[in-house]
Amino acid sequence: MARGNSHLPSIWLADFASKAEFDALASELGTQLEVIAEIDDRMLQSRHPFDIKAWCAACNAVTTMRITWHYCGTDGTGSVHPAWTETCACNQCGLNSRMRALVDFLFSKLNVPRSARIYMAEQTTVSYTAVQKLFDQVIGSEYLGPDYRPGEVAAEFKHHTQIRHEDLSRLSFADGSFDIVLTQDVFEHIPDYQKTFSESARVLKRGGELVFTVPFFYDLEQTRVRATVDAQGAVAHILPPEFHGNPVSNEGSLCFQNFGWDLLDAVCSAGFTQPKAHMYWGPWAGHIGFPFFVMSAHKG
Ligand SMILES: [Zn+2]
Repeated sequence: MARGNSHLPSIWLADFASKAEFDALASELGTQLEVIAEIDDRMLQSRHPFDIKAWCAACNAVTTMRITWHYCGTDGTGSVHPAWTETCACNQCGLNSRMRALVDFLFSKLNVPRSARIYMAEQTTVSYTAVQKLFDQVIGSEYLGPDYRPGEVAAEFKHHTQIRHEDLSRLSFADGSFDIVLTQDVFEHIPDYQKTFSESARVLKRGGELVFTVPFFYDLEQTRVRATVDAQGAVAHILPPEFHGNPVSNEGSLCFQNFGWDLLDAVCSAGFTQPKAHMYWGPWAGHIGFPFFVMSAHKG
């Protein structure tokens, strides 16, 4: 089916290869950024959850999306705002803003064909279900724990069936197996993330793309390490522990680092080229709040 968004504006505002590039644009935009803040502000009709109509890149249709106040926070001025990346979930497919941005990126920026071979480091999520409907060759996995072998499929795991186990630092796939590797908010939970970038590069074919999201701290040049782990697996906390939701664990996942712009250098060190932070915004497609990014890097 033809993609249905051709008459709506693109949500992709700009691409950045460094903090200097981002800062230059931010200062150039100046008061124009206040227009975005104003529009975002006017969207907030209620202190209760509410629906908006917007175009969903995964459903390829206009749907209703639900804005809630889960994980909301206050900014420097004391104003309250939703956790925009985590909300505005499509009532049809369930994908929130950052998940839909990733799908939009695959179509709008990469023109990924339906036949592409895609590895996705999740398998029990609404995103996996959506991506699997959109492409013919999608392999998903979860990290099930140290008792599983990479590539092993668990017949049953915590109410899920046929779940493949993979460890992103030692994937079971052969070199050059995929056109696209996708991860969403995973790398911040892996202390040796450099190793996972190298493994992602290994399993991608030449010309392939790593596409991912992480909580990104665009004001940081250097990544802020929150916790480390030693060879025996003992965790040392440098900053107060921060846990994020994990689809296969009730305890959540510890966040080891808050990524800054040197993330793009780390991706390059793993053998990728052209690493970029792609900034998106567009209320017509349910992307509110600013600035948020999808990252990509090319396997040359
Ligand atoms: Zn949808």
